[in-house]
Amino acid sequence: MALRREPHVLVIGGSDSSGGAGIARDIETISAIGVRISLAVTALTVQTHEAVMDVHHQQPGLVADQMRAAFQANKVAAIKIGMLATAEIIAAAAAVLRENPQGPAVLDPVLTSTSGRALLDAGAIAALKRDLMPLCCLVTPNLIELALLIGAEQAVDEDEAVWQGQELLAAGAQAILIKGGHAKGLRSTDILLRSGQKPIRFDAPRLAVSMRGTGCMLASAIAAHLAKAKRLEDSVREGKRFVFEQLQRNSTE
Ligand code: PLP
Repeated sequence: MALRREPHVLVIGGSDSSGGAGIARDIETISAIGVRISLAVTALTVQTHEAVMDVHHQQPGLVADQMRAAFQANKVAAIKIGMLATAEIIAAAAAVLRENPQGPAVLDPVLTSTSGRALLDAGAIAALKRDLMPLCCLVTPNLIELALLIGAEQAVDEDEAVWQGQELLAAGAQAILIKGGHAKGLRSTDILLRSGQKPIRFDAPRLAVSMRGTGCMLASAIAAHLAKAKRLEDSVREGKRFVFEQLQRNSTE
């Protein structure tokens, strides 16, 4: 029964058969940081590292039931949200989070796979922004996701992205971590934006290695540190360090 009182991160997201992304990555990351996991699966995907072959969405009611059971079973100290698949699943997840305001939620806005397959229905972005984003303490878009979230024509460079980020704050986000991993340059910079506060930059050397699931990893690592009762800024710093170390290990393997 001791397990019930230990802090858990509730992971809400999709499976990836290749293990490169999704809940497999989330579980690896959160376990490596020493925090336990509760789970609500939103979708099953059939994937290799090169392609997404099939996607099966769960019923929204089943996602909501998994979340309620997790809240009942364990002490949920933070929540990590990844692939949500449909506007109906978003609405169901948001309703359960409103019933159970226990622990900060980190939202990784998973829109498409690197190989180009949509992982969120077209038209569900509005529901994500309206129903879920305001309930989360942090949203972690990369430059491409940020542009899509605000309906901009194209992704921009890091400095202009701060303006796009301000737009997302005005649309109801509490805080945004803009991930610069897709940008060019010798350093990889992520920018934390909160309304009324100066942007904070987190910077690491850019490694010549590509690895799937780094977005899942970063949001999960941040949620794991939040579950250990660290402040948001410190959790982001620790999360970024964790991803850098994994990339470094991958580049030397
Ligand atoms: N599949 C699932 C279930 C995911 O959650 C994600 C991203 O979060 C992806 C695939 C995409 O990962 P990648 O862009 O590394 O292919």
